[in-house]
Parts: sequence; structure tokens; C-alpha cells
Amino acid sequence: MSSTRLALLGGTAVRRRPFPVYNSVGIEEKQAVLSVLETGILSDFVGAYHEKFAGGREVQAFEEEWQSYFGVDYAVTMNSATSGLCAAIGALGLAPGDEVIVSPYTMSASVTCVTIYGAVPVFVDVEEDYFCIDPGEVERRITPRTKAIVAVDLAGQAAALSEIMELAKKHGLRVIEDCAQAPGARYGERWAGTVGHIGVFSLNCHKTIQTGEGGVVVTNDPETALRLRLIRNHAEAVIAGMPDPKEEILGLYGWNFRMTEIEAAIGRVQLKKLERLNTERRDRIAYLNSRLSRIPGIVPPAVRPGCTHVYYMQLLRLLSDEIGVERDAFVKALEAEGVPASAGYVKPLYTMPLFRRRPQAHGSCPVVERLHRQEVIVNTLFYPPLTERDLDDVILAYEKVAENSAALRTGSN
Ligand SMILES: *Cc1c(COP(=O)(O)O)cnc(C)c1O
Repeated sequence: MSSTRLALLGGTAVRRRPFPVYNSVGIEEKQAVLSVLETGILSDFVGAYHEKFAGGREVQAFEEEWQSYFGVDYAVTMNSATSGLCAAIGALGLAPGDEVIVSPYTMSASVTCVTIYGAVPVFVDVEEDYFCIDPGEVERRITPRTKAIVAVDLAGQAAALSEIMELAKKHGLRVIEDCAQAPGARYGERWAGTVGHIGVFSLNCHKTIQTGEGGVVVTNDPETALRLRLIRNHAEAVIAGMPDPKEEILGLYGWNFRMTEIEAAIGRVQLKKLERLNTERRDRIAYLNSRLSRIPGIVPPAVRPGCTHVYYMQLLRLLSDEIGVERDAFVKALEAEGVPASAGYVKPLYTMPLFRRRPQAHGSCPVVERLHRQEVIVNTLFYPPLTERDLDDVILAYEKVAENSAALRTGSN
């Protein structure tokens, strides 16, 4: 049995073997890949005005399946969500100097997609309970130059999308939902990722379902879907070959953001597993929360009323006044117990060298500063195949460190 002395102070660690790793890939994906390999066609796009402009068999089948799963008119696959975000901003046709309201608490790609087109990111503070942009702050930062909002569905649940869509309607703005971390989460009666004008999903290797690298962009607007497909696949060359292109698309730049047939074949299998994988995560979170929520000073993430959370990450908050120790010391002690966690998610993005060197705007963001520097602990130990015994070790480590906070503070037992 583990001693009560903290491992950091010379005691025995709660957990002395590594946790099993997450792997959602099985025999069905192997078979799907083999079938593609047998055809010899690993990608089937042509970057010209051509029937294969929109990709091959697997890509198109995957897009149709994504459309029907999420109940959207158009799903456009990409080689990453980063590409998808760039295509989404590109499809809006922003001009340099246009402003886009963004979150400082997200992966950098949610904002580089704005700066790459010369638009100005306007960072707004986040909601303390849900870590997503605060609609009140969004409203305060809208100017005559504001053209769009990138709303990130952070950690596995949707942003305050009703309020954000309301503001967008009032001010004539477009909303891009970065749903990279929340595929399968519900926002009321709808899926997260399908509430904004454009939604972007990620299929990178760290996400709940993956194709190694990959992304999907969704929209219900046919004109936007065409632009997304053009930007994905050498727009300028395709448009040059079109018999009668519309004036508004003549200036579109294309990239090569194309997904391969292999990735699409894997994605088709992974999509079928999404609901089960999310349920398995949610069940484990429920087990963790039932005990972690009893530790004074540890606050499990709140779930937005009427919505569901699919837990890409569990963003716990540590209230140091209640628990009697600083967040960073707590995390160090947890790690010594063999239960890794990270102190904070990302540094507020407006502090990143790239964004500091470019035009940007932000007022003070006291909530994100406090969350990042003092409160947030990122736990990712709740995926299948972790068992109740594994989760018990996670819980025991948090309990043990919390109970020994006085010793941790003074550095002695
Ligand atoms: C993972 C992620 C991305 C980027 O996804 P890629 O597919 O790796 O490009 C963008 N935004 C958020 C919030 C993410 O978590």
C-alpha cells in the first residue's frame, strides 16, 4: 500500500507503473487501409477543372457519411484542422485590416488562420466556468471592422453559441466554430460544430477519433462549400479552367489541403466509433468526478446547461486558498505520485512571439490569466482502456496530495 508520505518528499508513489495508452485503431481500420492499398490509388484528386477536383471514392464516401452523421449539407475533408481553419477564413474573403474575434485560450491554429490572411485577431477573455470566449466580452470588442468570430469548443464542449450567433446576426458577422476538440458533443438539440456558419473538426492523432492527420469542415451554405473545395485544391488553377466562374471567386487562392484515400478510409471506420468512444470517456469522467469533486479546492469542469461534454481534456481548477497549496506545486507532487497532469493548458495566445509581432488587439483578460497561471490542471487520464483500478490511482493521487498540502507547503512531513 502506498504510504501517506508524499512521493515528492520521499514517500512511495501511488502509481508505480505507467498507464496504458489510448489506441482507437483496430482490425477494421487495417482492413480498410488494405483495401485502399490494393487499388493502388492512394489519393485521387486532380488540381484542375476536372471531375476528380473533389477527390476520390473514399474521400467522397467519408464526406457523405460525415454529412449524414452531423446532419449538415456539406462536409469537406482536409489534411488537418489547421488547413480547415485556413480554408474557412479564406472562404470568408477577409481583407487585411479586417478584425476577427478570437479566444486566447486555444491551440494557436485557431488564430494563425486569421493572421495568415492579414486580418487582425482581437482577443477576448473567456468564461471562468467553461473556458470558452465570453459573449459579453465579444460584444464589447465588436467594431465596424469586425467581420467574424472564431468560437472554439474547448476541451470537449461547445462555446456559448446561441449568444454568439445572436451577436453575429445583429452585427452581420460570420461565425467559425473550431470544433477540433468536441466532435460528438451536443449543443442543445444540435451537434457542436454545426451551429456556426462553418465548423471545423480535427482528426489528428491526439483527438478522440483520428486519421493520423486530417480535418473536416462543415457548412450548410453551397457557396461556402464550393469555396472550401477550391481552397483545398488549387483554386486558381481550377477557376482558370471553369467555363463561367463567378466574379467573387476569381481572387481565391488555393492550397493543397487534400486528404488521402487511406486517411478517408480510416476516418469512415473511426466515425462509426465516435459515439462509443465518447461514452467511454464520459463514464470514466463521471467516476473520477464523483470523488474529485469531494476534494475541497478541486473543481471539476462545469457542463453548460442543456449541452453535453465529450472530454477531450478534463480541465480541473485548483483553488489554492481552499486547498492550501499553489497549483504548480500540486501538479509536481501529482507527477511524483506517478499521475501526470499539466499545470495550465496553453499560455494566453496574445503572449506568443508571433502574435506580439503582428497587429493584434486585446484588452485585459484577467480570467484567462488567472486560469492559466494559478488554477487550471489538465488531466487526460480517463480514456479507454483505463479501468476503475487505474482511475482509483488517479483519484488517490489527487486525494493524497490534497491531504498533504501542509507538508507540501513547508517541504517536510
Ligand atoms: C487540434 C486542434 C487544432 C488543429 O488540429 P490539426 O488537425 O492538428 O491541425 C485546432 N484547434 C484546436 C482547438 C485543436 O485542439
